[in-house]
Amino acid sequence: MLLDTHCAASSDVSSDEAVASFQSLFPAPEGGAIASGLLVEGRQGVMAMASLGSGSKGNGTLIRTREALVLVDCGFTLKDTEARLARLGVHPSQLDAVLVTHEHGDHLSGVGPLARRHKIPVHLTVGTWLAGRAKKLGILPTRHLITPQLEFAIKDLEILPVTVPHDAREPVQFVFSRRGETTARRLGVLTDLGHVSEHVLQCFSDCDALVLEFNHDPQMLAKGPYPPSLKRRVGGRFGHLANAQACAALPYLGLARLQRLVASHLSEHNNHPSLAREALAPWLEGDDSRLIIAAQDSGFGWQAIA
Ligand SMILES: [Zn+2]
Ligand SMILES: [Zn+2]
Repeated sequence: MLLDTHCAASSDVSSDEAVASFQSLFPAPEGGAIASGLLVEGRQGVMAMASLGSGSKGNGTLIRTREALVLVDCGFTLKDTEARLARLGVHPSQLDAVLVTHEHGDHLSGVGPLARRHKIPVHLTVGTWLAGRAKKLGILPTRHLITPQLEFAIKDLEILPVTVPHDAREPVQFVFSRRGETTARRLGVLTDLGHVSEHVLQCFSDCDALVLEFNHDPQMLAKGPYPPSLKRRVGGRFGHLANAQACAALPYLGLARLQRLVASHLSEHNNHPSLAREALAPWLEGDDSRLIIAAQDSGFGWQAIA
């Protein structure tokens, strides 16, 4: 179980704004409504992402294409998940799948209840499934075992699971792209890793949008309240990324191409949004219009990647 806890940064995205933003990206057919579960039409080429919340109290990221809508991880109670989805204009019955990165509670605890209640297929590695069963994942209505480094598709969404260095049984993070598109957009979700391996750099380079872990500031971690063993774990090579580690990876990942960079999974005790911004400032050269800091309570609202 992940013991690190994370911050609840403020968000200025209201519920109404989030729903309006979703509807403008994927307008419902005349007379239709998002909440009714109707398949909505989106503009060609558009991918979008939004977050239910980010941090060790729960994670959930939505990825949307014209045809597909998937949730990456679910670390919230069923009631909380439904409320957070509604805030983003989504009914659980619209989800094509839940993808699970690893078995830590902030990513897995809500997966079983959500999947059973709304009969949603779950995609996960065999290691995450085996470890998750030991953590009360329970019976899943439909289980798809995925293989790291082997691409699979859900409707028009292509998904690459990538092995990451983290202290779980078989953890992966994901790169998303549109199936069969000539100028494919790439969207990466990359949290919960202790260091940026060569393999991670290769797989996540040249994304158009990136959700990247900015877990801690090493000085805050060193001076903070955690016991020594937990400090070693968080700051270790199979723990979580420090602000400077995330920044150092950016030139190799292809910062110039990013339409959106989301700093996510910030530690409540060992980081602060202002420190993440400060670390990023030299890389963004004073222009933080592409930057979003994901919050534990409110995540972030719909972001279109055109
Ligand atoms: Zn986590
Ligand atoms: Zn984790």
